Amino acid sequence: MSDTVFAKIIRGEIPCHKVYEDDKVFAFLDINPLAKGHTLVIPKEAAPSLDKLSDDSAAAVGRVLPRIARAVLAATGTREFNILQNNGPGAHQAVFHVHFHIIPKTVDGAGLGVGWKPQRFEHSEAATLAADIQKRLT
Ligand code: 5GP
Repeated sequence: MSDTVFAKIIRGEIPCHKVYEDDKVFAFLDINPLAKGHTLVIPKEAAPSLDKLSDDSAAAVGRVLPRIARAVLAATGTREFNILQNNGPGAHQAVFHVHFHIIPKTVDGAGLGVGWKPQRFEHSEAATLAADIQKRLT
């Protein structure tokens, strides 16, 4: 496992503006914010992407993510936000330690811009695909 900038932040070797910490989770302000209050919530477990994260760490992050989001909204006076979670360089991931972005969407338009291009949905193909995904979850 390579040592990432986020592992160094958790260990206190690189400074950050911390907003939350418990035994499994750490959260701090993003250094290149898309909006005021842009926060990163990370597990202390050094998994490179979400599909590699343990159920325990995933549960720990999931348990505090809404609470941290509420605090970010209250502190920034915003009501809307996006949660962004990138996995892999092609999917815009730059730091290979799982992280969830909390990005306030402000009335002046700051925040996450989303390009959303839906593809054609084929029911017969979808039935096979859904069955395949279900099988792999058991
Ligand atoms: P990704 O594109 O991997 O989902 O996002 C990585 C995020 O980490 C970026 O938004 C970037 O600004 C943030 N980041 C990278 N290095 C540092 C750092 O040293 N300190 C802080 N606070 N944020 C960082």
